This record gives sequence, structure tokens and C-alpha cells, in this order.
Amino acid sequence: MPKAETRRFDAEVAKVLKLMIHAIYQNKDIFLRELISNASDACDKLRYLSLTKPELLGDDAAFRITLQPDPKAGTLTITDNGVGMTRSELIKNLGTIASSGTQNFLGKLTGDAKKDSQLIGQFGVGFYSAFMVADKVSVVSRAAGKQSTYLWESTGDGEYTIEEVAEEHPRGTSITLHMKEDAKEYLDAHRITHVVNTYSNHIAFPITLKGEGDSSEEINSGTALWRRSKSEISDEDYTEFYRSIAFLGDDTPWLTLHHRLEGTLEYTSLLFIPSRIPFDLYHPERRRSVKLYVKRVFIADDQVDIIPQYLRFLRGVVDSDDLPLNISRETLQHNLTLQKIRRSMTKKVLSELEKKSQDDPKGYTEFWKIFGGVLKEGLCDGREPQAEILNVCRFRTLQSGEGYKSLKEYVEAMPEKQKEIYFLTADSMEAALASPQLEGFRARGLDVLLLTDGVDDFWVNVVQDFEGTPLKSITRSDTGLEDTEEEKADDKKSAKEGESTTGQEKVDALITYMKATLGDAVNDVRKTTKLKESPVCLATPEGGMDIRMERFLMENGQLAQRTAKILEINPAHPLITRLAESFAARGDQSAIADTVHLLFAQANIIEGEAIPDPGGFSRRFNALLEKTIAA
Ligand code: ADP
Repeated sequence: MPKAETRRFDAEVAKVLKLMIHAIYQNKDIFLRELISNASDACDKLRYLSLTKPELLGDDAAFRITLQPDPKAGTLTITDNGVGMTRSELIKNLGTIASSGTQNFLGKLTGDAKKDSQLIGQFGVGFYSAFMVADKVSVVSRAAGKQSTYLWESTGDGEYTIEEVAEEHPRGTSITLHMKEDAKEYLDAHRITHVVNTYSNHIAFPITLKGEGDSSEEINSGTALWRRSKSEISDEDYTEFYRSIAFLGDDTPWLTLHHRLEGTLEYTSLLFIPSRIPFDLYHPERRRSVKLYVKRVFIADDQVDIIPQYLRFLRGVVDSDDLPLNISRETLQHNLTLQKIRRSMTKKVLSELEKKSQDDPKGYTEFWKIFGGVLKEGLCDGREPQAEILNVCRFRTLQSGEGYKSLKEYVEAMPEKQKEIYFLTADSMEAALASPQLEGFRARGLDVLLLTDGVDDFWVNVVQDFEGTPLKSITRSDTGLEDTEEEKADDKKSAKEGESTTGQEKVDALITYMKATLGDAVNDVRKTTKLKESPVCLATPEGGMDIRMERFLMENGQLAQRTAKILEINPAHPLITRLAESFAARGDQSAIADTVHLLFAQANIIEGEAIPDPGGFSRRFNALLEKTIAA
């Protein structure tokens, strides 16, 4: 028999262990939940494998989890007869952290125990939580269908040992915790029973507590919670189940959806919406959000899309009798019944959200602040129920202050002459509110959706309208602000105000000059009624790509060249009227040309675009500064 090999933990694992050893979790009880959950997963995995390879079970098909405290030795042993681990699996699973989501999370740790404990409370550390209560952990495991048994051991201080053991060991995994002095309470049968009842009652395999001698007692209730009827389930039962499947540090979910569909399609789902943001919400490879069961047998969590990506904040289980048990996960993905279940659940979730938004608008806003950005991703996918998603979307608007509006509310409040839903996308609320594009809308008392999530630039290109009312970016040159007679009169008036000092012909002549001066850098130069306080802004030509979308594509190398934009000018602004006067009096002069370039640069800057000609800009700007100082 080869001697034990000593290996070092991955840097990330070492970090987690350090946190565990210093016990920054307030609630140590959860170590047992994590280890029992792993044991249950191991049984689930083997049960699934045995569907196609029954020989893996040998003569032991009754899955179970056993807890054995030994107060004299100061140890607690958790044993399962699940899938077990080979030598290389022990090394990989217990010595490294595979998920890059977790790695990224660890990158955020500050080293400040207090701050970190809040962070880490939101995320499951699984096996390593054993080191909160144990100063040494021994794992003995034999993988199903294999002969060799291995012993993995560590005191959590950066290294572990692994060796093959000679003794015959039953299939599965046995984890022995050598309890720390201050964790001896977990050797007490009552304490263990209490913790199991609190966190692991729903585990579908029997959990047996071994007492002295041969005595043993089953301490969990064991029926899959979701299969029980709603009337038998208390709020505490739901909460306990939620805590056992979601590691978010929130005590109660924001919403619980327990739903049984009967008829041509049959399934049961128990889904939760957390009240906190999961740390890996924006990580593509996050897993285990909704588990799929077939006839109560666990089938998959991460390989099968049971819920669409944009509902990835859901936690819970789906169980159906309609799916074949012995189907591979790969084929499952394309299974028609599964797709129907997925569609049905999606609609159900959206309709429950709609209901919640009506019944409890305030609570709904809290949900929306956390998960709205994710939910809106569903609008980008034409196969998803767009109308239903739009119904549950909420928006900050020019007039909403700190509050949120639904599209329905927005449309209902539109003045009769307004035919489109106006929106502006920006990086932040501050940037949106400071945008000159809004000036004309503000002055006219028209409301504008202010969209500041990353996904907003995308879905606005996919969604054409809301119940027949088109959506319109206010950065388009054809916003049609002045379409009505009344508006036209208003605009004439405001143009006249400008005219009192400057004739329209002079402004028109300036525009022609600006076009010639800026050349290919602009698509056109036009007067706009959109601006009130600002002299200029950029606009997208009709049918052209949205400015922010174009920038995104350029940054990602998907677009080689920017298209020229329209420079819109405010004909009533003193800068423009004076420039027009000046041009009329003196004609083409470098000072006037420079001003035109500077105005154009300004329009780009405000829109967050790169300055078209940075060298020329600094030269002109410096010349201007010099003049100001000299004056
Ligand atoms: P997680 O359970 O979130 O994946 P853990 O750190 O708890 O993270 O466990 C890491 C991996 O170790 C598990 O994914 C699993 O493959 C393996 N593992 C842990 N406990 C057991 C067990 N009792 N039986 C078999 N495999 C296990």
C-alpha cells in the first residue's frame, strides 16, 4: 500500500478554509445541513446512474444517510451510501474550487472578517463548512462500482493527505468530524435532531441517528415536500425547505410558488424568489437554481434548462411523472414534454408576478430593483412571452421621481397627441437626467422612460410596441415632438424669440456652413425643438442604429465603423443665434469654423461618444482658453 500523499489546497480553497476556521458564519448549525445535502446529492446521483446501470447498486439499493456521534472520541460521522468518490474525484472536489462564479466571489472578499461574513453568508461553502466545527476532517470514500477506498484528511491549514486504505469499506462516503472544543454540543443527540429538523427535514432519504449500542432512530420526515398538499404544509416548512436549497443568507424568500398542474400535462413545482441578490446572478455558469425530478427521482440541476435564463433567480424543484426516467440529460434538453413544462412554468411565474405587482406594488418594487435587470433579458428572446414580460416590467421615468411606473400607467397618462412611448437609455440615472435630449420633453411636460440597465439597449431593439403603442428612442431625429398644430405654433413662437435677434435665414445659412465645415463627420445638421437649455445634441438618423447600441457593437469588435450622426441645433440658443449673426456679418473665418467644431465635439461628449478629432479639439479648445484668459 503506497504511503499517504500530502497535497496543497488550491489558493481559493485555502481562502475559504481560513474563513471557516475563523468561524465567521454566525450560524454554525449549517455545517450539518451542507454535509447532509451533499450526502443526499450523492444518493440522488447514484440513483440516477443506476437507471441505466443497475449493477452499480450491488445488493444495497436502499439509500440512506447515517449520523453517528461519538462523545468519547469527540467525533461526529456522517455516512451515505451514495455515489462515492474516486481518488481523483476526492482531489478535484475537495481540493479545488471549480466554479468560476465562486472564484470570482472569493475575489471580492476583503480580508475584513466582518464585511466578509456578510458576503459569505450569501453563498454556500458546502463541504468546507465542516471546518467551522471540526479541527480535523477525515473523509473515507469508495465510488460505486469501484474496489478501492481512499482516505482524505485535513486539519484545514493549507494541506491535506490522501491515501488508499486497505480495509474493505461499503460503497459511499463517510465523513468524520473531529469536533472543536467549542462545538461539542453537536455530539448531543437532541441538538443533532433539532438541527436536522430545522434544516434537513425534507431530505427524501431516511436520516438515521445512531445512539449508544445498537439504538438508532429516523429523524427526518422524508416525504418530498413539494409532493405534499399545500394544506399540510406550514409556512415554516416552506421556509425551512427554502433555506436548505438556497444559500442566500435571507431568512425568508420574497415569494413562494407551489403549484400543481394536472391534465394533459402534469407536474408539480415548488419555486422561490429570494429576497436577496444571489452572488452569481450574473455568472453564466451558475448552477443549481431549479432542480428537475422525474417521479421523485432527482435528474438534473445544471445541465437542463428547466427555466429560461431570465428567470434564473428562481430557486426550487420541478417534479413530473410525464417524463421518462431513463432518458439521458442530453436528450432531455430537446424533449417536447420538458419544453411544455418549461413554457407552462414560465407563464405561471409571470402571471404570479403580475398578481403580486397589483396586490403589493411596494413589495414588488423591491423585487424589481433586484431582479428587473435580469427579467428584462427575456424581452430580447423572441420565443419568450413578450407581452407577459412587458406587463411585469417597471420603469423609472422623467416624472416618476424615485418611484416606478408600468407601461400601462405610462400609456394611460400620455396626452392625446402623444403617439409613442418615449425612452432614453443611459449609463446611470444621473447621466439620463442630465441629458440635453430630455430638455424639450421636460419643457412640454412629456414623460420619458429612463433606461439604465445594461440589457436595456438590447431589448428596445427587439420590442416594437406595447399593446400597439410603439416605443421610440428620443435620440432619434424624428421624435415628432412638434407634430401637432399647437406644438407647431409654440415652436414658431420659440423660434421667433430667437428670430427677434436673428433671422431664420441667418440660422439656415449657418446650418449650410456647418454641414460644409463638418463634412463626412455628420450625416446632417438640423434645427430641433428638442433642446431648451443646450445649444446642440446628437441624434440618430431615421432607421439608423441607436448610438449606445452602436458603441456596444464597436467595443465588442462586431462593427468596424461608426455611422455619421445628425447634429441637432437649438435655433433659439444664444450661442447659435450669435454664431449665426457672426457668420452673416463676417463669413467663413477660422474662429467661426473652430466654434462649429467645438460645438460638435460637445454634442459627442454629452452623448458619451469619443471626441471625433481629439488633436483638433485640444488645439481649438486651448486657443479658446487663451482668448478667455487674455480678455
Ligand atoms: P457543492 O456541493 O456546492 O458542489 P461542496 O464543496 O459541498 O460543493 O462539494 C464539492 C463536491 O464534492 C460536490 O459537488 C460533490 O461532487 C463532492 N462531494 C461532496 N460530498 C460528497 C459525498 N458525500 N459524496 C459524494 N460526493 C461528494
